[in-house]
Amino acid sequence: MVETRVTIAIDGPAAAGKGTISKAVARELGFAHLDTGLLYRAVGAKVLAGAEAVDAATSLTAEDLEAGNLRTPEVAQSASKVAVIAEVRAALVDFQRAFARRLGGAVLDGRDIGTVICPNAEVKLFVTASAEVRAERRYLELSASGHDVTRDDVLADVKARDERDMNRAEAPLKPAEDAVLIDTSELDIDAAVAKALQAIMDKTAH
Ligand code: C5P
Repeated sequence: MVETRVTIAIDGPAAAGKGTISKAVARELGFAHLDTGLLYRAVGAKVLAGAEAVDAATSLTAEDLEAGNLRTPEVAQSASKVAVIAEVRAALVDFQRAFARRLGGAVLDGRDIGTVICPNAEVKLFVTASAEVRAERRYLELSASGHDVTRDDVLADVKARDERDMNRAEAPLKPAEDAVLIDTSELDIDAAVAKALQAIMDKTAH
């Protein structure tokens, strides 16, 4: 097998389709995948349980990432609040960078992978969709998993997180200059994954 250390950075706002695309791309290429949002969610969950944010980030364990409640809207909001704290972000950098350079290739998805964590990633994608489309997807996901939410609440949540993620001083959400933009508003999953794979082929074909 060819030894590869290719890093694929996939950034974008909440519920744009990054997670789905990242998992599919990693499976297709045989790369490892890290959902970096889970790190912030795990810190956010610990804060909701009474921990101090920086302590929670510096003492994060693999077990914390397996907690069952990390996908709730409350944890998502808490994650985006702890994510503005520079010391929290700094505590999570080494783990993400080591993962990115692992042998066999890696896909990382998040908000600042192409801009801050892996500015030298071989491939950078920025996945977006309109706030309304993203909120509708998240609403269907949350309702299907038994959460009692309304469309209006989910849209307000998505917009609040976008606002906080894009306007923070530290590692704000924005496309890297050399990122390929993929708008999934009008694409189904297969079409979005196909677009991502095509962009990866174009960027890695020498
Ligand atoms: O991607 P996910 O919705 O799980 O991320 C939860 C929150 O974690 C985001 O709203 C964002 O504030 C934060 N985050 C971040 N940087 C990343 C990944 C997530 O700031 N690389």
